[in-house]
Amino acid sequence: MREPVTAYVGMGANLGDPAAALALAVQQVGSHPGVTVTARSSYYRTAPMDSSGPDYTNAVVAVRTTLTAPALLACLQSIEAAAGRERPYRNAPRTLDLDILLYGDAQVFSTALSIPHPRMWARAFVLLPLAEIAPQCVSEAQLRTVFAQTITKLP
Ligand code: AMP
Repeated sequence: MREPVTAYVGMGANLGDPAAALALAVQQVGSHPGVTVTARSSYYRTAPMDSSGPDYTNAVVAVRTTLTAPALLACLQSIEAAAGRERPYRNAPRTLDLDILLYGDAQVFSTALSIPHPRMWARAFVLLPLAEIAPQCVSEAQLRTVFAQTITKLP
């Protein structure tokens, strides 16, 4: 049995009922035998960035997992598919997007997987929810770089 690793998963949706999609995704991630959800951030609303369509709802969850990073990605992609995720064109609006942000202190650079997620440091909708549940993972300086991006924490 592999030692569990703490990983952080970014979640976003802007089609259908985004809050319901995120809530279901958290439940589905946690129902995998190799994954335990240990924390979930608040939901945040943001305008599409590198995408289009309605505003996004975003959140980050912390998991403890015995899955390898590729196996965790496969798990997340099957949940995206079950949520009806389609990719008609790059960065299209989406019913559900799940990204591995961090996987322990692993650095992964393969064609299928980049960890830390390469664009996470430029995105307030990732850094604010991540800082909420894992302040040790995000520095004040990193938060300052996304300060100008409009983001609303939902009640
Ligand atoms: P997207 O269409 O935004 O969901 O991007 C999914 C693609 O990004 C898939 O082909 C993944 O293999 C790739 N990818 C690379 N790094 C990551 C990561 N850290 N988390 C999720 N997907 C990733």
